[in-house]
Amino acid sequence: ADADAPPATESNALRTPIVAVLGHVDHGKTTLLDKIRGSAVSEGEAGAITQHIGATAVPLETVSQMAGSLVKPEDFDLPGLLFIDTPGHHSFSTLRSRGGALADIAIVVVDVNDGFQPQTLEALDILKRTGTPFVVAANKIDTTPGWNPQDGSPIQGSYESQSDSARGRLDENLYEIIGNLSDEGFSADLYWRVQNFQKNVGVVPLSAMTGEGIPDLLAVLMGLSQRYMKEEMEIDISGPGAGTVLEVKEERGFGATVDVVLYDGSVREDDTIVVGGVNGPIVTEVRALLQPRPNAEIRTEKRFDKVDEVRAAAGIKIAAPDLDDAMAGAPIRVVRDRSEEDVIDDVTSELAEIEVDTADEG
Ligand code: GDP
Repeated sequence: ADADAPPATESNALRTPIVAVLGHVDHGKTTLLDKIRGSAVSEGEAGAITQHIGATAVPLETVSQMAGSLVKPEDFDLPGLLFIDTPGHHSFSTLRSRGGALADIAIVVVDVNDGFQPQTLEALDILKRTGTPFVVAANKIDTTPGWNPQDGSPIQGSYESQSDSARGRLDENLYEIIGNLSDEGFSADLYWRVQNFQKNVGVVPLSAMTGEGIPDLLAVLMGLSQRYMKEEMEIDISGPGAGTVLEVKEERGFGATVDVVLYDGSVREDDTIVVGGVNGPIVTEVRALLQPRPNAEIRTEKRFDKVDEVRAAAGIKIAAPDLDDAMAGAPIRVVRDRSEEDVIDDVTSELAEIEVDTADEG
């Protein structure tokens, strides 16, 4: 790498927003992700979703099929949504990107009957601190006494087909959640009453079990991203990649590997990369970029497929020498046509920030 290298070719594109799911234990984070993945797959199209390492990509086309009239593909130019698969605020708080949270947007799952719990409050604190926009999924509405489930339907239709008493009970729980949000300093309302999602938090009543309200959740996520985050989603997709390490894992035949969420640029086989480690930056070279094999092929010996290049946003496993000391939550950067020293400096200063934050949390 030298200063005379030609500039990267112009290849600006919009990437998928990265979505994280947070909330109190047992409030339904895993069920919600499974439902979104499952109903996307049962839409039947090949390529309905793409399973990445640590994440699931749902293309706009599929989001639109799942959301029906609530998401018209012609209204959007963002390519879809990338859901980080590992739910929980512990992972969220360690997952940073340059200057903020790795996730562009979050879903806070709250059990409508159980209401706010300690981990709900912790999640909101983290989102406040990182300035991450979020929506609240008021989950498990199907457990409302007398509820008449409407599988997979948008919430307003489902709500209207309930008895007065079921509706009344749900309303009570929803208003309690809205009140609790207000106590935490967030002005919130049922999502269809929210005009400005930058100022107000939208609450989406749904059931991760029956799927009712999930079309609405997807519509709010797409709408919010398209309206308020489009500029941040503009990246040079063939530029040097930037990402965050989710996990460091030993893999048979590969040694230590890192699972990474890439939020900018691209990574290619043979790229020189700089990865944050427990003893400072590690400079190494990509040996293999690995994606999980589709389930149908899992019986074959190999669990991964090799790919030549990955573009943001994506989850990817990177095999490279010397990754044993790599650190979850640390930055990873592709050097490409830049000076290696500059990239090492960047990674060093980001590592220092992570340490300051960790110290703050006690
Ligand atoms: P997590 O700890 O937040 O990931 O919660 P899980 O997704 O594991 O859900 C906890 C329990 O609640 C499981 O038994 C789920 O089947 C159940 N659950 C989750 N969502 C719903 C829902 O919408 N309706 C009902 N009835 N049960 C749900």
